Amino acid sequence: MLMTGDQYIESLRKLGTRVYMFGEKIDNWIDHPMIRPSINCVKMTYDLAHDPQYVDLMTAKSNLTGETVNRFGHLHQSTDDLRKKVKMQRLCGQKTASCFQRCVGMDAFNAVFSTTFEIDKKCGTKYHENFVEYLKYVQNNDLIVDGAMTDPKGDRGLAPHAQKDPDLFLHIKEKREDGIVVRGAKCHQTGSINSHEHLIMPTQAMGEDDKAYAVAFACPSDVEGLYMVYGRQSCDTRKMEPNADVDLGNKNFGGQEALVVFDDVFIPNDRIFLCEEHEFAGMLVERFAGYHRQSYGGCKVGVGDVIIGAAALAADYNGANKASHIKDKLIEMTHLNETLYCCGIACSAEGYPTEAGNYQIDLLLANVCKQNVTRFPYEIVRLAEDIAGGLMVTMPSSIDFNSDLEVGRNGETLAEVCNKFYAASDTCTTIERMRILRFLENICLGSSAVGYRTESMHGAGSPQAQRIMIARQGNINAKKELAKEIAGIK
Ligand code: SF4
Ligand code: FE
Repeated sequence: MLMTGDQYIESLRKLGTRVYMFGEKIDNWIDHPMIRPSINCVKMTYDLAHDPQYVDLMTAKSNLTGETVNRFGHLHQSTDDLRKKVKMQRLCGQKTASCFQRCVGMDAFNAVFSTTFEIDKKCGTKYHENFVEYLKYVQNNDLIVDGAMTDPKGDRGLAPHAQKDPDLFLHIKEKREDGIVVRGAKCHQTGSINSHEHLIMPTQAMGEDDKAYAVAFACPSDVEGLYMVYGRQSCDTRKMEPNADVDLGNKNFGGQEALVVFDDVFIPNDRIFLCEEHEFAGMLVERFAGYHRQSYGGCKVGVGDVIIGAAALAADYNGANKASHIKDKLIEMTHLNETLYCCGIACSAEGYPTEAGNYQIDLLLANVCKQNVTRFPYEIVRLAEDIAGGLMVTMPSSIDFNSDLEVGRNGETLAEVCNKFYAASDTCTTIERMRILRFLENICLGSSAVGYRTESMHGAGSPQAQRIMIARQGNINAKKELAKEIAGIK
């Protein structure tokens, strides 16, 4: 059953998810002005699936049930599916200019599906069967699942078992006949509060000594012992100001990250997908990271489309649109943005079937994709700020632009003064000019900068993580042989 966006929001109300923010427990987090924009983003992934224009991108036929499912819950069956995934993410980025959060679950499904198949083959376990049953449940109910990988990690120089505090990596605390008890946390979890379920994976390759940390499982977001602490963002309290409107830049949408704490959570046997088979932790991490690095060649490109549009509008509104350097900067932004898209499409087109039957992306190209994402959005934002002009960070507030307070010698109001001095081209009102500049402020420096800038750097792994994979996959020795042959070296 495909839920509508409104049904999704109602379904969240039925959960007892425990959320803390600013030193308080937030009971009605669904309508909280700081959190709601991030829920609206996820809602978009439901709404678009009902829009006839986008059905082909947003939905797919499940290989498990034969039913139509949201593509965010789908196991990729071909390179065509992989390409459509990237296109869907670009679309969602265009519609929200934010992180819409649902991809972490999709990427986790595909990585856990193929990895559990290979674990079972080698170890005689039944994790794959567990996972298939779980995914059917997720697909049939059109659920949001937070695919969670990143542990707090403590001292980066020490292995999980060698940390002073054992909880700095999520681990199995107790093994029982009917399941396990887990303890620890996952950090900066995208969309965790807005998810019905959590799908937990280990954070890195693990050795024998760390086998208690090699664990994958699923649980409901409101399971006993689980709670979350909301991560704040730059300028986030603007969302709580009455009438902030224009000052918000992106009033309706935003991303979300939180600390997710597992305070002795019981996981029943049928929801366990890895339990101490430490030699498979690395495979699971590599596959999930590969998919999520592909994802960035879609989502960030969609947001980039909106930024380029906003920069072009700012140029129109400033009256600077005919200047040749402005046109050239817009070309440069487009070139950078489409280069990221090329990478997302390329690693999808070169995908291949796993032993379990779903499709994996080309790992080298996906890592190149994400490595570029750690750079190009910064240049795109630099050019957007250049085109916008300094006003994007010096404008009076939205309240001043609407204030009746008399401030001039002849009784001019604050609103009249602001509107007079910030008027520019005839193609827009002063408020429209403010709107587009505030949007750019929000995405370059404000709360959405989390999703477009810093997440571009660290989301799906920091740059060094991709360089390690590029080193591993780059096959320098084969390249040496090419050179030797042509240069006539035996
Ligand atoms: Fe999806 Fe991009 Fe957000 Fe990751 S960063 S969850 S790929 S929108
Ligand atoms: Fe992300």
